Amino acid sequence: MSFKSLGLSEALLKAISKKGYTKPSPIQKKAIPPVLEGYDVLASAQTGTGKTAGFTLPLLHILSENPKEKFRPIRALILTPTRELAAQVYANVREYSEFLNLRSAVIFGGVNQKPQVATIRQGIDVLVATPGRLLDLQNQGLLSLKRVEMFVLDEADRMLDMGFLRDIERVIKLMPEKRQNLMFSATFSKDIKKLAHGILTNPVQVEATPENTTVEAITQKVYRVAKGKKSGLIIKLISEGNWKQVLVFTRTKHGANNLCKKMIGAGITAAAIHGNKSQGARTKALSGFKNGGINVLVATDIAARGLDIPLLPHVVNFELPNISEDYVHRIGRTGRAGAKGEALSLVSADETTYLRDIQKLIDMKIPVEVIEGFEPDPNASTAPIKPGQNRQRRNNNQGGERRSKKTNTNTNSSRSSNRNNKSRRPKRNNERRN
Ligand code: AMP
Repeated sequence: MSFKSLGLSEALLKAISKKGYTKPSPIQKKAIPPVLEGYDVLASAQTGTGKTAGFTLPLLHILSENPKEKFRPIRALILTPTRELAAQVYANVREYSEFLNLRSAVIFGGVNQKPQVATIRQGIDVLVATPGRLLDLQNQGLLSLKRVEMFVLDEADRMLDMGFLRDIERVIKLMPEKRQNLMFSATFSKDIKKLAHGILTNPVQVEATPENTTVEAITQKVYRVAKGKKSGLIIKLISEGNWKQVLVFTRTKHGANNLCKKMIGAGITAAAIHGNKSQGARTKALSGFKNGGINVLVATDIAARGLDIPLLPHVVNFELPNISEDYVHRIGRTGRAGAKGEALSLVSADETTYLRDIQKLIDMKIPVEVIEGFEPDPNASTAPIKPGQNRQRRNNNQGGERRSKKTNTNTNSSRSSNRNNKSRRPKRNNERRN
C-alpha cells in the first residue's frame, strides 16, 4: 500500500516524499482512511509508530479541501501533554503542510506568550497546544475555539497521568459540538475508555504496536548493584563502552540533576531534561543530544515522553520505574527503525519488587549480571523505596503546565455510545464544516 493509494492530495504526497517516507506505517494505513472519511477515530499507538503523520496528514488533507476564509479561524486543534511533544508535532505539521495554503502555530507554557499571540492574531488554521497555555490565552480572550472542526487529543493516557482531565473537559466545552475527533493513546485504562466515550462519537478503533520496539527485539540486561555504587557503575559502562548516545532514566528530577553532575565531573558530556528546566534549556539539551554534542541525556519519564530520538543504541534505567508500564515505554526508545538496541537496568536491593513486577508484565526473566567492584550490598533491605519518594514523579510538575492534582474521571457527555458498526456513518463534508 502506498501513500497515494490512501487518497492523500498531491501536495501532501510531495511533502511526504520530501521527508523520505516510502510507505505508510501500520498505524497510518489503518488511521488515515477513516479520518479522511470523516469518522471519529480512537487509536492505540505510541511514539515511534508514526502516529503523528497518522493524524496530521488526513487532517491537513481535509482542511485544505475546504474553501479558505479571509480571516482564518482556528479549524483544527491538536492537544498534547508536554511542551516537547507540542513542538515536535508542530514541526511535523509545518513539514507536511509545506505545499499547502494552510497556516499553523504552536503554543505552550514556560515561554513568553507574545510571539505566540502575534502568530495567532494573523489567522491560523491549525493550532498545536498544551492545555495550560491554551486555556490561559483563551481566558485572556486572545483566541477562540468556536470554529474548530477537527480535534486531536494526542497521548491521552499521559494527559490523564499528568492530571489534565479537568483542563481537557474545559477545552471540549469551548469547541462546537459538531466536530471530528481523533484520540491517540498508548494504553487503554478504564479512565481512558471513559474519556473516549465522552469525546468520541461512534469511533473507528485502530491499533498498532511499534514495528521495532517489541520487547523481544531489544537486548535487556539487569546489573545487580549496591545503591551507592550505581553512579560509579554507569560511568564505567559509558566510558569503557565508549557509548555515544545514551538515554538514562531516573525516577526524580533531583536524581537526574545529581547524576548529570557526577557524569560531567567524570568527563562525560551530559545534560538533564525535566520539568524544572527552562524551555530553552530543554530544547538545547535535546538538540545537543540529537546532533551528538551531548552523549548522555538524563531524563525523567514524563520529560522523555514523546521525544523523537530515532536510532537510540542505549537506554539505561539508572532506577527502575515504580510503574511497570513505564519500563516498556522507556526501553521502547531503543532499537527503533530496525536498529539494534540495548536496554540496561541498574537494580539495587530496594528495587527488587519493581523488577519482579516488570518481569511479570513483560512475561520474561531479564538476564542478570554483577560487575566486579560493583557488587550488590548483601545486607541491604529489599523493602521498596519509601512511598513519598515513589510518588514524587507523579506529583511533580514535569511539563511545567498548570495541572490539577485530582484525576477526576467524570466526563460530561450526552452523546450516545452506540458502537455498532452499522450505525457508523461518515460525516459529510458540509457537516464537518458547520
Ligand atoms: P511518531 O510516532 O509520530 O513520533 O513518529 C516516529 C518517527 O517515524 C518520526 O521520526 C517520523 O518522522 C517517522 N515516520 C513517520 N511516518 C513514517 C513513514 N511512513 N516512514 C518512515 N518514517 C516515518
